[in-house]
Amino acid sequence: MKIIDGKKISKIIKQEIKNEVDKIIKNGGRVPHLAAVLVGSDGASLTYVGSKVRSCKEVGFESTLIKLTEAITEESLLAKIEELNKDDKIDGFIVQLPLPKHIDENKILMAVDPNKDVDGFHPTNFGKMALNMETFISATPYGIIELLKRYKIETSGKNTVVIGRSNIVGRPISILMSRKENPGNSTVTLVHSRTKNLENFTKKADIIISALGVPDFIKSNMVKNEVVIIDVGITRVKDESHPKGYVIKGDVDFDSVKLKASHITPVPGGVGPMTIAMLLKNTLLSKSLKI
Ligand code: NAD
Repeated sequence: MKIIDGKKISKIIKQEIKNEVDKIIKNGGRVPHLAAVLVGSDGASLTYVGSKVRSCKEVGFESTLIKLTEAITEESLLAKIEELNKDDKIDGFIVQLPLPKHIDENKILMAVDPNKDVDGFHPTNFGKMALNMETFISATPYGIIELLKRYKIETSGKNTVVIGRSNIVGRPISILMSRKENPGNSTVTLVHSRTKNLENFTKKADIIISALGVPDFIKSNMVKNEVVIIDVGITRVKDESHPKGYVIKGDVDFDSVKLKASHITPVPGGVGPMTIAMLLKNTLLSKSLKI
């Protein structure tokens, strides 16, 4: 069994990005600039945005954090996005989700200039990804593809089962895994909350990519020997014995499933760190990529 070490790979990717930034500086160019829009003060969102901004510093990017009050109107948020679209000094920006209930998330995502949409959430970018055209691929699926590539995991002709059909993970990774690409060329089954007898699918899977957010959902009796496990799930589970009062759990019962797997991502330290690294990669690309 081999652990797929996302922490290690993300560090390598960040170093590669830093090397590119050093070259830009040496040639007298302007370093990439990422902006992040945070609405409200949700604890998890603050943590995510904070580490995105910190990672920009690590690789030598400029970054701007725009904190907006929870009470902001949809109109004012749209105006802020228009400002960022027009700002030549900002190469890419993200709007941290979820947004407060009174704001239409789709309307906001549609307002982002696809050329600056480093999250890859705009329909233009999602469509281009599905059509295998050059574009921003959203960071989590992009990170999964990069892990499979760097660990040289054979995906062609394999049965890949994706669990979860969210717009940010399950659906895009199911498309990427079926593309005529490497990694890709998989026979993909997308299972979700309405799937009957889900274990009938997982038991036949060569590769399982799980993005549902239910701790320890996948048990060892649901998988076959030599399966490749990519666990995207991140759930905070209360644990008073831990200084933080909680522990982070993935979707997979790691200790039992690892005994059968050929490769497995841990949680934390698997897909999570890759997400930020690939957001940085998209920001680097945003300087040259024209959608
Ligand atoms: P989501 O929370 O929007 O949706 C969950 C999906 O799981 C749905 O499509 C649903 O159909 C499916 N599902 C729920 N219960 C199920 C069940 N019992 N059987 C089968 N399918 C079921 O999905 P999301 O936003 O992709 O998040 C999924 C998990 O991945 C969460 O734990 C989230 O925190 C984590 N996540 C991690 C990263 C990362 O960087 N590692 C990024 C995004 C999301």
